[in-house]
Order: sequence, then structure tokens, then C-alpha cells
Amino acid sequence: MKTLVHPWPVHGKNTRIVPVFLPFAGCRTRCIYCAQTLQTGKALQGVRPVLDEALSMLRARRRRGLPPCELAFYGGTFTALESSTFELCLQWVGNLMQEGLVASWRCSTRPDCVDGSILADMRACGCTTVELGIQTFVDHVLERSLRGYTSAVACEAMECVLGAGLALGVQLLPGLPGHTQRDFVDDVRKAVASGCSFMRFYPCLVVEGTGLAKLYREGRYVPWSVDTTIDALSEGILLAHEKNIPVIRLGVAVEQGFEEHVLAGPRDLNLGTRILSLALLKLVQGDVARYGRLVHLELPCAVQGYLYGHRRENAALLAKAGLDRTRMSWIDANEIRISCAQ
Ligand code: SF4
Repeated sequence: MKTLVHPWPVHGKNTRIVPVFLPFAGCRTRCIYCAQTLQTGKALQGVRPVLDEALSMLRARRRRGLPPCELAFYGGTFTALESSTFELCLQWVGNLMQEGLVASWRCSTRPDCVDGSILADMRACGCTTVELGIQTFVDHVLERSLRGYTSAVACEAMECVLGAGLALGVQLLPGLPGHTQRDFVDDVRKAVASGCSFMRFYPCLVVEGTGLAKLYREGRYVPWSVDTTIDALSEGILLAHEKNIPVIRLGVAVEQGFEEHVLAGPRDLNLGTRILSLALLKLVQGDVARYGRLVHLELPCAVQGYLYGHRRENAALLAKAGLDRTRMSWIDANEIRISCAQ
């Protein structure tokens, strides 16, 4: 009998991440797919009122007896903020750390807006993690999406973040114009090889008011289907998990009211469940094909929510691979153990 052990990292940090959204702040261009204000549910406003609102919320958290959180600047290009605004944010978050409201902080930004000196300043002020919106490493896709940088720049940026002693998060956006399923798998391979700590996958949606919406209406852009997205992202999950890298987001996190602005794209309320379930199914099927019949399957408890997929859509295929309740047990570990025999 052979037992194959596959890492299955589960994102479950003890520290709560509290986002501070600064839609489009620091953005010099408007990427073809981006609809930050609709997505975050935050209107465009100055940075100061956003920080004031966040401060009130953090103090309310403390009054409720909650521990210091990790703060996250999301929604724009944090490292390209105008210098006085950038300084204001660093000073503000530094004060919050001194006050004991915040334990650490992170930000998201573009790969062409980081350099060693900015990152060193951020790290000195308590930043621990930088999430890079890489989206893809395919140059012609980046160009068509009006991203304004190349794959080489994205790779340099990843090195720069790690070189500054910060944890790296990589955000990918599968399904942009000209982007194929195979491209996405290559993107994940590159991100995994970079030494990132985690990834997020945001399948591309067509949102009203964006450049992509115009292309879509003109028949010049066709979004990925739900099935293509689930298939591609399940491959991505397997590649990431193989290196013990968690994918902490599958699908766009949306605010109430966002849905009505989405014109097209892979929308499915159960997208994450379906992707994870298919990844797991592929893992089992792969080992059974290579090493013989399934003898036993040990699964982390976190998998319980999606083992069989949405409405048990993968139950029959798992049964066909040899899975039944007598061959299955739950373990308290971030790995899947598949025992097979000829
Ligand atoms: S995708 Fe990022 S960089 Fe592009 S416009 Fe939106 S927030 Fe700015």
C-alpha cells in the first residue's frame, strides 16, 4: 500500500484583517476591468475621512474587548499615493500600533509602483505583507488590459518585496482579454516559484462602466465561462497547495449592490466551493490512476464543507474513484493522505 501526502494549507490566521479601502487612491491609470468603487461599496472621497472612519471602528472594536487586528490598505495603489498622503498613512498606522489598536499592517499595490526604499520605509513602520496585483505574467494580456507594465517588471517587484523582508501575496486575475486557461496555469507556476506566502484568484468579471464593458458590448471580449473558470482555478489550487501555499480568495469579494452592475463573467455564488471540490476530486482521481485502487482517504476537517461540491455535484465521481464513508476519516492536519494499493 502506498500513502501519498498532499499539503492542503488552510487559511485561518488568528489575527483578524480589517480592510481600509482607498478606491483608486494612487492609481495613475484606469485598468480595463477595474470598478473599485462598485466593488468595495465605497464612494471616492479623500483619504482623511476614510482614516477617521477606520479609527472610530477600531476603537469600537477595542471597546468590545477585541484584540489588536491587522490593518490592510486595499482598493488603490498604496505605494503610489502622493507623498504627503503616503506619509500621513504611515504616521496614522504607526499611531494605531502605539495605541495598541493594530498589531501589524499590509497593503496591496501594483508591481510597477514598488521600490526598495518605499518598502523599507513601510517595513520600518510595521508593515509585514505586500500584496501585488500581478494579474498575469502574459505581456500581451497585460497590454490589452491597460496595466502598463510587463511580466519582467512583475517579477522584479516580487523579488523587491521579498528582498525587503516582507511577506509577498500574489493576486491573479484569470480571464482577462486574450488570457487562456494554459496561461493561467503558467501564471500560477511563476507565482509559486517566486516564494510568495499566499495567493488570491479573482476571475475576471465584466462590470458596468469599465473599458471591458465596452469591449464586451462591441463583441470584442468574451469572458470565461463558469466551467472554464472552475476547471482552471482548480488546477491553480493544486499547483499552489503542492508547495504549501494557501489561496486565500477565490472570486471577487463584493459589496451589496455590486451584482447588479456585473454584465457578464463567471458568476456563481458557490464558485469557491465548486473550485475546491473539483481540485480535491482531481487529486484523488490522479492518485488512483497512478497508484491503484483507493484504500483510505484522510482529510482535514476544513474540507468537510466542500468535499462533495455544491449539491454533491462530485459525489458520484468520488464514489467511482472508490470513496465511501468506510474509507474516509477526518484529521486535524493541513494535509490530505491518500492510501492506494494495486
Ligand atoms: S486595478 Fe488597481 S491599479 Fe488598476 S485602476 Fe483598479 S485599483 Fe488602480
